[in-house]
Amino acid sequence: MIYPWLEPVWQQIARHWQQQPHAWLLYGHPGIGKREFAEYLAQALLCESPGTNHQPCGECTSCHLYSQHSHPDFLLVTPEETDGEGGERKQPLIKVETIRNVLDFAHLSAHRGGKRVALIYPAENMNLQAANALLKILEEPPQGMVFILVSHQKDRLLPTIKSRCRQVVLTIPAPAQALAYAQQQHGDNAAELLAFHGGAPLFNENDSHTQLRNELIALLVKPRLIALLDYAATFDKHKLALATFLDWLAKWLLDLSLAQQNMQPIYYPVWSKALNEISRQADTLLLFALIDKVNKLAPYGKHTLNVKMQLEDLLIEYLNIWQQKNIKS
Ligand SMILES: [Zn+2]
Repeated sequence: MIYPWLEPVWQQIARHWQQQPHAWLLYGHPGIGKREFAEYLAQALLCESPGTNHQPCGECTSCHLYSQHSHPDFLLVTPEETDGEGGERKQPLIKVETIRNVLDFAHLSAHRGGKRVALIYPAENMNLQAANALLKILEEPPQGMVFILVSHQKDRLLPTIKSRCRQVVLTIPAPAQALAYAQQQHGDNAAELLAFHGGAPLFNENDSHTQLRNELIALLVKPRLIALLDYAATFDKHKLALATFLDWLAKWLLDLSLAQQNMQPIYYPVWSKALNEISRQADTLLLFALIDKVNKLAPYGKHTLNVKMQLEDLLIEYLNIWQQKNIKS
């Protein structure tokens, strides 16, 4: 299936169905249904009796095999699950051995006489070796082979890979459509959660994460050294990735800088009043310096295990934003 807000993208693809590339790159914000869209495209490419809009019929042998995850001409490539050690703190990777399997798959002839499709999700999780191996296949694609790459962060892909793909942006739904969808899933909290997720409606909100995030925000409204350090320890105990914390903090800092310019918050609208009040006491230069620091750390969000120390460092710097101001005034 594809989500209704992506229907126009499908229409666009269907209109140009005859000029198909051998490699697609579907990209866009997390949480908008890219994977489902990619799967739909794969099924359509393999379908033996597609509809007038090139949609998969859901009835033919190929569609049956596809829906049972046993289509011999389809290969799904996802990162290896990390086990135990590090948990969600480690970036799961698509490694070169996996891409070598794709190479073998690509050179077999199709079992059902049609196309062969490999779906790589998310493509930015390929390490450099894997990406280079894939590039070799993309440079000389075997006959009838189609690659579908899906990416949340297109900037992290090799330019040489991107240039060999037809790039299709999958768009975030209009606010009303996103809210209607989120309300079906999350009820009363939908608006608040949707704002936090940047308007992308397909998020999985884990209750313990929500609670930990709310605790952080309550502290950021009234920062106190000991409480901040305690928080760093608590967060560390949950074994969450630094990336998760950076995401929460970066969104808060952005809302704070908006409040300083008398603008409405994007990610934490329920904290609008508090943001307005505290933003007047914040040192603007230090705030921007911290935003910069958080942005620079983002690429390492899943590469460091020293999460507690990083949190302490960031939270102390956050505290400084207020103290400097108070000293000056
Ligand atoms: Zn079919």
